[in-house]
Amino acid sequence: MNRDDAPLDLQSLVIHGDQDWSHPELNDTALAPAIYTASTYSARTSEEFAAMANEPRHPRYYARYGNPTQERCERLAARLENAESALLCASGMGAMSTTLLSLVKAGDHIVAQSAHYMGTSQLLTDLLPGLGVEVTLVDQRDADAFRAAVRPNTRLITVETPSNPTLALTDLAAVARLARTHGITTLADNTFASPINQRPRDFGIDLVLHSATKYLGGHSDLIAGVVCGDAARIEGIWKRSIALGTNVSPFTAFLLLRGLRTLPLRVARQSENALALARFLEKHPAIARVHYPELESHPQHALFKQQMQHGGGVLSIEFEGDAHTGYRAAKQFAASLRLARHAVSLGGVETLVVHAASMWEASLSPERMREAGISPALVRIAAGLESAADLCADMEAALAAAA
Ligand SMILES: *Cc1c(COP(=O)(O)O)cnc(C)c1O
Repeated sequence: MNRDDAPLDLQSLVIHGDQDWSHPELNDTALAPAIYTASTYSARTSEEFAAMANEPRHPRYYARYGNPTQERCERLAARLENAESALLCASGMGAMSTTLLSLVKAGDHIVAQSAHYMGTSQLLTDLLPGLGVEVTLVDQRDADAFRAAVRPNTRLITVETPSNPTLALTDLAAVARLARTHGITTLADNTFASPINQRPRDFGIDLVLHSATKYLGGHSDLIAGVVCGDAARIEGIWKRSIALGTNVSPFTAFLLLRGLRTLPLRVARQSENALALARFLEKHPAIARVHYPELESHPQHALFKQQMQHGGGVLSIEFEGDAHTGYRAAKQFAASLRLARHAVSLGGVETLVVHAASMWEASLSPERMREAGISPALVRIAAGLESAADLCADMEAALAAAA
């Protein structure tokens, strides 16, 4: 920790937070971390070997259990989320599946949202029920719905805010209070906000999860996930991860640490660009609705001010028109952009758009799409680091082509 033990600002944490402040003599003097590719590590004595094998999370034992590059990245990730400990995994879904499988067993009950990342929804509505876990899905915007869904066997409440693709919010403090009174663990997927715009643990949430593929990595060149929380829960999740084999590669841990150094700068710019696009598109006659929590018109703007710094890099828009004309305009718009690329994912340096309905219509029923908030006329925009003026000009030209 720094001299007077005052917590560092996030901007300083991303630069220095991978150092071990309680054992400075153990810190690597190389400024850029080494990539430990070894699959296994030797002991000098049998006592040392026993210690390596039995000490949980020993970073130099066998690489499925961890490695020093990963440990350095995890130290920083934990501090960014105001947590004691963190576990890196091979992907966001690796972190989510490992976390869920470590927290619940047959006979337990989970309260979750009807809107979650599609992979998370599959775990909650297919894999876990098949293993004997009960799941109740609620409207995330309704704090009373969470309360009404709690049962004596509820072990976990899992939330995601802002959620995909309509940027609906969940009241983190209300969920945390409810869970505390019933002794229930809480988990928040904080991928969309990133720790720069929202820190769920500051509102009482136990575990915070990221698809590090998105903002934390930030360069569209790695797949990883991370879960942050108290040391005891993270050790339990780590035990599951070594059985499930969801460990991250040391190369990925290196890349992620490199990306994290610029997280506050990138997210600040992405949030500015998203707000500029939201304000520009809200005024355009072809656009019926803009979903972005930092806009005064967002139905949960008061909650936004309570728990977020800025709205983040993602917004979504809905075109005017019916299921047919709105759908056509949205699809044409996505195809007519020059600067913004037509691709899934978010959080990278480049602006990406997806027309959600054409992406999901082959695999989801119209009813399931409605439940997930995917209107035929909806386009999701993930702002990158380009100039806001160039992005607005690109969107304006594409809107003209779609008219
Ligand atoms: C992308 C994403 C995930 C899954 O992460 P992967 O790294 O692709 O496995 C989970 N939650 C949210 C909110 C995401 O955007």
